[in-house]
Amino acid sequence: MDATSLAAAFTEAYRRAPEGVWHAPGRINLIGEHTDYNDGFVLPFALARGVTVAAARRDDGVLEMRSLQVADAGVSVALDGAGPKTIDGWTEPRRWAAYPFGVAALLRELGTGGASLLFDSDLPQGAGLSSSAALECATALALCELYGIDADRAGLARVAQRAENEYVGMPCGIMDQSASLLCTAGHALMLDCRSGLSAQVPLDLPGKDLTLLVVNTNARHTLTDGDYGRRRAECERAAALLDVPALRDVTDLAAALDRLPDPVLRRRVQHVVTENHRVEAVVGLLRAGAETELGALLTASHLSLRDQYEISWPEADLTVEAALRAGARGGRMVGGGFGGSVIVLAAADRAGAVQDAIVAAYRERGLTEPDFLDAVPSPGARRCVN
Ligand code: ADP
Ligand code: MG
Repeated sequence: MDATSLAAAFTEAYRRAPEGVWHAPGRINLIGEHTDYNDGFVLPFALARGVTVAAARRDDGVLEMRSLQVADAGVSVALDGAGPKTIDGWTEPRRWAAYPFGVAALLRELGTGGASLLFDSDLPQGAGLSSSAALECATALALCELYGIDADRAGLARVAQRAENEYVGMPCGIMDQSASLLCTAGHALMLDCRSGLSAQVPLDLPGKDLTLLVVNTNARHTLTDGDYGRRRAECERAAALLDVPALRDVTDLAAALDRLPDPVLRRRVQHVVTENHRVEAVVGLLRAGAETELGALLTASHLSLRDQYEISWPEADLTVEAALRAGARGGRMVGGGFGGSVIVLAAADRAGAVQDAIVAAYRERGLTEPDFLDAVPSPGARRCVN
């Protein structure tokens, strides 16, 4: 719902008016998958969809949270003395509140306090479009502005990441929160996850007669299931064996692979090192105005995620294969893996045929049909009204 309607819903729910409404977007990562926690490069852009929050301060130190996507009376917790343990035992359907609660608990160090929050979202959850970071970043921005805290956005992204790591127990990297807070309209964000430095890279695919389809495969994933953490641990083990601080620091891939006896670790290293190079290559193409050449790099990323990192899922492989057969320029799975979304790059005049071919491939196998979303590079988190 729009900001005005959400403000009205807040008034209805909490019997008082909100002090403001904030929005934080989801994201698509154009390329650079599972590179963020290896101190590498990523290239996300913000979507027009995201999480919106109507909010007002409370002077009793309580955080009160409701979501229009969760059918219950909400969750209220005193922030005083609250730590990650406070939410031990928060199971479904209350688990979602650990994301905003973690942000509010950590931000208290900067001088924020209690609040009533009402969330709404037009992002599918668990679709690899980062609804979790949008939820965290909307909360962070709202609390900072309500309490007059002038925090820099890169710092807020780290707070939101810590909330997800420490309060939700999901060992995510810094990409999603950075994308939600730092992206600008018409650009992708080239982020160096080691230094935290970022650059805005112009991204105008329609201007080059290209369409980027976002395909929600409607296959579910739960990132806290452990596979994400296992991949992360494998990368850390490989870096330790190679005597480098992070896989970002591998400069001679062939020599590194020779030093690793474990074929699984070799595959992980192969993906991370080549994926970092693909991010830099894509940035080079975008800066050169050579967007039409992006497709091969997207497909190479997908094959690497499928065969080396082993986190693709059947619907994602089917989507990429059907798209390529129908003449798409390239495509790849996005997000943590094991479910979620796929991006497909096609010439604008082929996009309809590619979309039809993907739907036909799902039908042929009796799979739930995928959803197609717009991929317009949009502004980062912001205040909506007054
Ligand atoms: P993704 O970030 O790719 O969407 P995650 O598993 O990281 O997937 O995060 C999804 C979780 O975030 C949901 O299971 C829910 O707990 C929480 N979430 C996201 N959006 C909302 C919302 N609008 N209301 C309540 N919880 C939400
Ligand atoms: Mg997430």
